[in-house]
Amino acid sequence: MIEVDLLVAGSGAAGFSAALAASHAGLSVLMVEKEPQFGGSTAYSAGVIWIPGNRHGRALGIPDSKQEALTYLQHEAGNRLNLELANAFLDNCNPAVEFIESKTHVRYEAVPIWADYHPTKPGAAQGGRSLLPLPFDGRRLGRRFADLRAPIKTMMAFGGMMLGRGDLPHVFKMTRSVRSALHVAGMTARYAVDRLGHARGTRLTNGNALIAALALSAEERGIELWLNSPVVELLLKDGVVAGAIVQRDGKRQEVRARRGVVLACGGFPADDELKRRYYGHVREGRQHRSAPPPGNRGDGIRLGRQAGGALAEDVAYAAAWVPVSLVPQPDGSTLPFPHFYERGKPGYITVDASGRRFTNESASYHDFVPALVEACRDREETMCWLICDHRAIRRYGMGAIGPAPLPLGPHLRNGYLLSARTWPELAALIGVDAWVLHNTIQRVNVNAARGEDPDFGKGTDAYHRFNGDPAHQPNPCLAPLERPPFYAMKLIPGDIGTFLGLRVDGRARVLDSSGVPIRNLYAAGNDMTSVMGGAYPGAGITIGPALTFGYIAARHAAGLSA
Ligand SMILES: Cc1cc2nc3c(=O)[nH]c(=O)nc-3n(C[C@H](O)[C@H](O)[C@H](O)COP(=O)(O)OP(=O)(O)OC[C@H]3O[C@@H](n4cnc5c(N)ncnc54)[C@H](O)[C@@H]3O)c2cc1C
Repeated sequence: MIEVDLLVAGSGAAGFSAALAASHAGLSVLMVEKEPQFGGSTAYSAGVIWIPGNRHGRALGIPDSKQEALTYLQHEAGNRLNLELANAFLDNCNPAVEFIESKTHVRYEAVPIWADYHPTKPGAAQGGRSLLPLPFDGRRLGRRFADLRAPIKTMMAFGGMMLGRGDLPHVFKMTRSVRSALHVAGMTARYAVDRLGHARGTRLTNGNALIAALALSAEERGIELWLNSPVVELLLKDGVVAGAIVQRDGKRQEVRARRGVVLACGGFPADDELKRRYYGHVREGRQHRSAPPPGNRGDGIRLGRQAGGALAEDVAYAAAWVPVSLVPQPDGSTLPFPHFYERGKPGYITVDASGRRFTNESASYHDFVPALVEACRDREETMCWLICDHRAIRRYGMGAIGPAPLPLGPHLRNGYLLSARTWPELAALIGVDAWVLHNTIQRVNVNAARGEDPDFGKGTDAYHRFNGDPAHQPNPCLAPLERPPFYAMKLIPGDIGTFLGLRVDGRARVLDSSGVPIRNLYAAGNDMTSVMGGAYPGAGITIGPALTFGYIAARHAAGLSA
């Protein structure tokens, strides 16, 4: 048996935030992680955080206020918005991020034109709320670098080189700008050197940079992190959570936790049973592929339920949706590639199995999937085709395929990408009516040349245009698809994590079905219900709250106000 003040289950954004805040508040902390590597889905992510009124945005002169953000959340989540949680988030997100930036190695920057996802709604921001982590040198982790979960393989170049959001404009322009060519050449040279001594590149960006920086800071504070060590049972004494049983390297180990346990196990995107219960289209037997890692199997939710915690089931959607393509692997399996942005670029459209467009391709991924599910309601399969011409694919790439000069050949040979010289040939290849596809393309091309999309409004707001190409006019999201060959890639519904989770109060305390806190039990990240009520207001709306509620939980456990 060992004894600490706080036991933290899970090593993603929520877990590290809780552990570091608790340690800085003077508590002894043990972190335990079920998987052989730490980082969870946060390590897979872009690491972006949505923090209204943050200091980086202010420094750029972008005005914002708590009231504006609250108004926006009310319009996004409607009567599903839990005001207590929304206020707790908005009051604490800045202190939490300021704590993280001042006491750890994590550094963020604002992206001034990264608009909220529904920027015409009241209270929405046209930029500045979404913060991007700065790159981090993985070599600083020393031997622990090998314990850091790598990004999804399909999202790295050359099987191991990370590209950050800030690198992408250079990648798109590398054949047309000397500055961009030098930027990409520099990254590639560093990667080549890295591979002499490491299994992958050590220039970390996105969620990998966030987790690596948090992990280094935790190690420097002497916070122990056990890998291969799931929490399997909570220990209760007179209704108070007193610790847990941790299965460490296969052996049951009792951990007493004087101030409590934080559940930060990352929700249930890898649990088929819970997904069948809560994902409508999965319940109906529809195709779906989740992007998060296999360890996120709802353990925190089950543990919380066993201790008497209730689930907050009133969310608009149980998960954060994203369309995915399935990238064939040499062993015959497939890996998902989440399509966040390229749908919005000029020269891309999506069509359903009839060959018709069905939605605005530049809308957010969370909005795209319900439109896809609806469009396929009476069809055999829930899928669509992402279509583009040669100019678009060479300039921006498609899914796991990079832009020129990266080759298309291997992707054509393994069937990930389909291509034809004419539209009727492509229609035949993907099994859609050639005449319908012809009409779709004709109409798109005529309107795109004028920069208009009268059917779905692609490129009509600041968020759509952020997803487009600012150098392309008159509409950054629209271009005729006219340069053969033409290409198609299949997309199906997927998710990047769950929204539905344990009911908590504004102090991250797990509540029972009567709304009474279970003493010494906290949940943060995707183990707690999303503050957004199942809506997706902007980039970073899961990791922003994960860092914030981890911080809140730790401060409460330490007896400090949060
Ligand atoms: C490709 C991709 C991009 C994304 N980009 C963004 C983004 O930019 N911004 C954003 O806000 N969101 C993003 N998301 C979503 C985001 O990654 C998650 O919502 C978030 O990271 C969840 O954080 P967490 O701390 O709750 O869980 P995680 O980071 O998943 O960590 C949970 C950890 O708990 C471990 N665990 C599970 N069970 C146990 C147990 N019994 N005992 C101990 N440990 C356990 C898991 O193995 C895992 O390591 C993205 C997701 C993906 C897949």
